[in-house]
Amino acid sequence: MNWMDFEAAHVWHPYASMLHPVPAYPVKRAEGVYLELETGHRLVDGMASWWCAIHGYNVPELNAAIEKQLHEMAHVMFGGLTHRPAADLARKLLEISPANMNHVFFTDSGSVAVEVAIKMALQYWQAQGNTGKNRLLTIRGGYHGDTFGAMSVCDPVSGMHHLFSGLLAEQLFADAPATRMDEAWNESQIQSFAAMIEQHQHEIAAVILEPLVQGAGGMHFYAPEFLRRVRTLCDKYDVLLICDEIATGFGRTGTMFACEQSGIQPDIMCIGKALTGGYMTLAATLCSGRVCDGIHADSGSEQSGVLMHGPTFMANPLACAVALASIELLLDSPWQTRVTAIAQQLEQQLADCRKFDAVADVRIRGAIGVIEMRQPVDVARVQKTLIEQGVWLRPFGKLLYTMPPFVITPEQLSRVTAAMSLVCAQLAQHDI
Ligand SMILES: *Cc1c(COP(=O)(O)O)cnc(C)c1O
Repeated sequence: MNWMDFEAAHVWHPYASMLHPVPAYPVKRAEGVYLELETGHRLVDGMASWWCAIHGYNVPELNAAIEKQLHEMAHVMFGGLTHRPAADLARKLLEISPANMNHVFFTDSGSVAVEVAIKMALQYWQAQGNTGKNRLLTIRGGYHGDTFGAMSVCDPVSGMHHLFSGLLAEQLFADAPATRMDEAWNESQIQSFAAMIEQHQHEIAAVILEPLVQGAGGMHFYAPEFLRRVRTLCDKYDVLLICDEIATGFGRTGTMFACEQSGIQPDIMCIGKALTGGYMTLAATLCSGRVCDGIHADSGSEQSGVLMHGPTFMANPLACAVALASIELLLDSPWQTRVTAIAQQLEQQLADCRKFDAVADVRIRGAIGVIEMRQPVDVARVQKTLIEQGVWLRPFGKLLYTMPPFVITPEQLSRVTAAMSLVCAQLAQHDI
């Protein structure tokens, strides 16, 4: 059996059936913004490997950082040991994150960073002797990962709640604000959230949400004013605010972190995805001095003042080294100009898709372009068209969307938008 047939028969893919798999295309290597397939196809990557590869692939600076670290040590346990890559990365993260962020907890994936954020919030209130505050409030349409704590705050309809009902913690869901980023703020957008937090303040440990851009829960954008109101309400009712910046962090929406556009500071912040420039799996949960002090307030019990988490591969040195190199590369690049240029080009070249009946909405925010169809798309067939056009995108549900590497050239991005437009035209003609 050749390796591809073996793989198809034995290896699971994300959100996939082993019995009726959709095709997985074999990648031989990746360079710049291109994925090179075993079949000889060369595809412009419009997905940046799920938000991660902001500098593209096979980046000399990032390769060098890993190689250098590899010759020192690939990994050592973080319990009772420490190392320079973790310290240097933490220092850099605290430099670029909101001013009140003061402590860093490294984890190995975004979902686990969310679990740790939830744990921090729950332990914070426990340490205050307030055991009543043990639920989370979020907004509908969110996505925070696939582990159980994270799943409990994903959108209850598009998420996996129906599969695991009874096993997931029952959290509180307010309506997501319906305003688009470019529309004027409307007071009605905060009503549902304001009513929920007022009514349940005594049982809410924290609010968790994705600032400004809701990713895998439906690619919805909302106004910065909403997040400002959320911050004010959290302060008013003594509730912590967790910003999940795992998708939005590292420049994607035009600022280093999306919450900056609201001028607010979270109490706890999750980062991941583009943290290592797409090289390795690493995430982190940052928190303020207030949260950290609060967790240590209780000295009554044996485990008091101890944050109860510790992944085996915590602060993996290779991942820390490449993350630091990726952030330095980002800071040394004209990333704001690049993100603005990508946004403008997406707006110009996707605007025309609004004319198709099959298209319900076209929305752009930073280096993110989303076409929402009226009906769910046939992923396998749409992907075939895209690949014929030399483009890699991964539609889901009704959404055809792109969040390319920041280093994409205007010509390369035109290929992506042309392929997206072609898919809209074909859907309008019922060709696919
Ligand atoms: C991807 C994502 C996660 C989960 O991260 P993993 O590394 O896949 O576990 C959590 N929150 C948001 C907003 C994400 O986009």
